Amino acid sequence: MLGSGVRRTRAWAALALAALVASVSPGAVPVLNGYRSPRNPERRIRASTELIVLHTTEAPARSSLNKVSDRGECHFCVTESGQIFRIVDRDREAFHSGRSMWNGREDVDKFSVGIECVGYHNKRMPDAQLNAIRDLVKDLKAMYRIPDERVVCHSHVAYGAPNRWHKFKHRGRKRCGMLFAMPSVRRRLGLFRRPAFDPDTRARRLRSADEYLRQVLYGTVDTMASLYPAVKAPAPQPARPVPAPPTYAPPRPAQTSPTVQKPSAVVAPRPHPTIRAAPSSGGAPKSVEQLKARGYVAVGTVSKGVTAVKIAGRRWKSPDTYYTIRDKVIPGNQIDDSRIEKGMRVWMKK
Ligand SMILES: [Zn+2]
Repeated sequence: MLGSGVRRTRAWAALALAALVASVSPGAVPVLNGYRSPRNPERRIRASTELIVLHTTEAPARSSLNKVSDRGECHFCVTESGQIFRIVDRDREAFHSGRSMWNGREDVDKFSVGIECVGYHNKRMPDAQLNAIRDLVKDLKAMYRIPDERVVCHSHVAYGAPNRWHKFKHRGRKRCGMLFAMPSVRRRLGLFRRPAFDPDTRARRLRSADEYLRQVLYGTVDTMASLYPAVKAPAPQPARPVPAPPTYAPPRPAQTSPTVQKPSAVVAPRPHPTIRAAPSSGGAPKSVEQLKARGYVAVGTVSKGVTAVKIAGRRWKSPDTYYTIRDKVIPGNQIDDSRIEKGMRVWMKK
């Protein structure tokens, strides 16, 4: 562990170094050169640029930077602290998409810019990092005239060859960059549209092999919605009552909750509705009995093929959806893929 004095000295050294190597490119975003790829000179100049592809490295910064630099795997790499490193020159080909297809065209590397973001496909990123990604994407969009809906994530374009589990070419090979398809995160990045459908599964060139991913890319699953809400929460209301929906399944189409008022000043082309439940008084329920006493009913049990999303729809991570297993009661806002287990019962308000 470092003493704070040492840490401060290192921080200053890093700042001084950053100032030395920083250049302003593209646009006004400072880009660092400390990890330029040795592969750079051998890469061809790209014929066209039609997509910006966002990735998550699924590893910490240092190892991520070393790897993408050694192999020339992206054009830019953005760290958690918001530093942007140039890896491969932006007009050359970087090998970031692997087996990939978009709108019938294979090998997306040939017509895209790739940005690796240090972090994980389903985890929140620090604000400094999101700001840097936002600024970089904004510059690249302007430079290559790319509209919002052609800023995609790796999982939009990656596909898998037939294998023992999937007899067909399939979408769903990777969940890389998945969070960047979520409307709330896109809004945070200044992106207000996303691809409305998968052109390759629609044309039956590919089949969808990851239903959860499909729901994130094109459906209403947005696990970051509570972090980046579309609208401000209304002033605290006297406890209760949120009108109950008539049924729980199937998930209702997007509809603004009646308790959420949209301030007229907020204008977004595609507002993503966010359900923010007013926590009921008396703290979170701690047992099945307390859930029942507060009017919750079990609406399903997670099992093979029956996911939390299938049971609770877009409210699967809502704070007023609860999961019970053994003696535990877990609110939906503390649930993610890794905490879901078979046998969990899902509770929602009657
Ligand atoms: Zn990727």
